Amino acid sequence: MMKFKWLACGMILLVATTQSCSSSKKKTKAIVAPAVVKTTPSSESIVIDIEEQRVVESNTAVAQSQSNVTPNTQFENIQQSVSTPEREVAELHATGIQRNYDFAPTIHYDLRKPQFVMIHHTSQNSIAQTIRTFQLAHTQVSSHYVIGRDGQVVQMLNDYQRAWHAGAGKWGNITDMNSVSIGIELDNNGNEPFPDLQINALLILLNNLKSKYRIPQTNFIGHSDYAPGRKDDPSTYFPWETLAERGFGIWYNANYLAPPPPTFNSTDALRIIGYDTSNLRTAVRSFKKKYIRTDVSSELTPYDIMILYDLYRKFY
Ligand SMILES: [Zn+2]
Repeated sequence: MMKFKWLACGMILLVATTQSCSSSKKKTKAIVAPAVVKTTPSSESIVIDIEEQRVVESNTAVAQSQSNVTPNTQFENIQQSVSTPEREVAELHATGIQRNYDFAPTIHYDLRKPQFVMIHHTSQNSIAQTIRTFQLAHTQVSSHYVIGRDGQVVQMLNDYQRAWHAGAGKWGNITDMNSVSIGIELDNNGNEPFPDLQINALLILLNNLKSKYRIPQTNFIGHSDYAPGRKDDPSTYFPWETLAERGFGIWYNANYLAPPPPTFNSTDALRIIGYDTSNLRTAVRSFKKKYIRTDVSSELTPYDIMILYDLYRKFY
């Protein structure tokens, strides 16, 4: 039977024998189903050491037989890869296997899909400036897409990888939005309207993402929704109503606003929509910046409450 061993030094040792590895560093017993893994009688050992950037391979047939069921060949490919982000993700993959447990790799899996889209404005003056910002080592920020004022769309990270765009915040029960979202930055200094060319390009991209990853309508949000009081992008110029008409995010029907019943609790409604109401004043201000715009105080007026009630009734 094929044995697949994790060693404490970060080394993976694959041995085609029923006997245990002689290394004293081994920690776990690996399990590989015989029906899945093909062995050859003359198989010898393959050693891949990520930390030492070293590959020792003595039997390629064994590696090929494992290509669909173990991370080994993936690591092997890393050695020849020039793509730093992909290499980093593959190395992270190695840390995702807990070495103190038995390991029996399944063959049925794919990558986790983004379930939210978060929209930002860059607060910068050009798309080139933003691209440079996301490529400088010290900035520690990034997004999947940047959209220029002229509608140019630049993808900067694979959709399946985790960009650093959301930071600290909370939406519903989600506190690590980077892990579940696509980040889209719109080239905008924060004090100017968003050109139609830019919004049209955004709508096309959103449509693509929504259908590809089956992202719910309510899961298209702004940075300020997630981090009220800390972030205020996209600005009040951003056309959330236009997006909602196309199925990205939510909006109210101004023609059918009605007072809510006496039992309606506006704080609960804000929380159910997603806002972090632990600081109610910043949550209300974030809500009003998006839906009221002309008044961004931290108090809900009777009119604001009718809008909140309409959203709550329609979408939650
Ligand atoms: Zn932002």
